[in-house]
Amino acid sequence: MNRRTLLTAGAALPSAALPMPAAGLQKQMRITGIETDLLRMPPGEPNYDAIHKLGVDSGSVVLRIRTDAGITGWASTSFGMIAGGPRVVQTILEQEVKPVITGMDPSFPRKIRAELWKALEYHGVGGVAHFAVSAADIAVWDILGKAAGLPVWKMLGAFRDRMPVYSMCGWYYGNDGDLSRYKRSIETALGQGYHAIKIKVGRYSIGDDARRVRMALDLAGKGKRVLVDANQVFNRNEALRRGRVYQEMGCFWYEEPLAPHEMGGYTELAEKLDIRIATGENLYTKYQFADLIARKGADVVQPDNRRAGGVTEWMEIAAIADGYGLELASHGGGSVNMNMLLAMPNAIYMETGGPQKFVDGEVAAPEAPGMSTEVPAARIAKYKVG
Ligand SMILES: [Mg+2]
Repeated sequence: MNRRTLLTAGAALPSAALPMPAAGLQKQMRITGIETDLLRMPPGEPNYDAIHKLGVDSGSVVLRIRTDAGITGWASTSFGMIAGGPRVVQTILEQEVKPVITGMDPSFPRKIRAELWKALEYHGVGGVAHFAVSAADIAVWDILGKAAGLPVWKMLGAFRDRMPVYSMCGWYYGNDGDLSRYKRSIETALGQGYHAIKIKVGRYSIGDDARRVRMALDLAGKGKRVLVDANQVFNRNEALRRGRVYQEMGCFWYEEPLAPHEMGGYTELAEKLDIRIATGENLYTKYQFADLIARKGADVVQPDNRRAGGVTEWMEIAAIADGYGLELASHGGGSVNMNMLLAMPNAIYMETGGPQKFVDGEVAAPEAPGMSTEVPAARIAKYKVG
C-alpha cells in the first residue's frame, strides 16, 4: 500500500469504527472561576534536617478550578514550615491568577502558563508566586484527565504502571543522642517493605554522619539502598570532604550538598565524585534546570512540582534531563508526582514514606481519571482557617 492509498483507506473507515473522544474534550471548555481554602495543621512533634525544623508550623492551600463543563480541577500546595506561606499563595491565586485564567480553555495548559508568567513577572517567575502557577497547572491537568476519562499518566505518554519508591525516614529528632528514634524509624520503613531509604546528614560532625550512615546501611542490609540528603548545608570544600565519606561507605546518592543556586559548585562535585549528585527541589522553571544540566551539575534531577511549575513545566524538565542521559526522581510523593514519573523512562524513584501497597518495592499507578488531587471535605472542614 503506498502513502496515498493508506491515507484514503483511513478516510474510508466507517465513522462508527473510529474511537470517539470523551464527551468533555469534544467541545471547547471555559474556566468559570476558582475557589481556595487555607488549611493550617496543628503543631506536631518537630523533626529536623541539616538546616530546617519541620512539622510545627505548616499549612496548605487547596485550589478548585471550576469549568462550564461541570468538571472541577483540584490541586493543593503545602508548606512544611512557614505557616504564612499558604496565605500568600492563596492571595496570588485569588487576586492575580483568577482574573487571568477565567474564560480560558483548560485544554491549553501551555497558553495558560504563558499568560500567568506574563501577569506575574513583576514579582518574578519563581519563588512563592510560582507555587500559585504550579497549583493552577496541576488543577488544569486534573480537569483534562477527568474530561478524557483517563489518569493523567496515561495522557502524558505512559512508560510504566508501577513506580519504585524510597522512604524518607532517617530524620534528626529531639533528644535522640543515642539514635534510638532514628533507628526505630528506619526499621519501621524497612518493615513496611521499602527497598530504599533516605537519611538526613550534615547537621552535626562528619563523625556523626558516619555513625548514621553505618547504622542505616547495617539495618538495610544487602540489596537495599541508602540515600543521603544534606539539605544545602555545606560549602564546596566540606561538601567534597563529606561526599567522599558517603561514597566510600556505599551510599546510592548524595542530595543537595550545596545551596541550590551555587551551580558551579555542583559542577565541581559532580566532576570529582563518582556517587550520584542529586538536586533540584529548590529550583524554579526549566530555565534553572537547563542551567544546572548544561553545567553538568547533577546526575539525578529532582524537580519539586510545587516550585518547578506543575505538570507542564515538570515534564519539560524531565525531558531535558532525559535528553542529557540523566536520571529523574521526584521531590516528594503523592499522586501528582506519581502521575508524572510514570510517564518518564529516566525516572528511578518517587520519594515518599509510610505504609504503601508494595509489589517488590514498587507502588501501583493511580487509576482514577485526572490527577487524584481531590482533598476530602472532612479534611478541609477540620483544618480550614480561611
Ligand atoms: Mg532533599
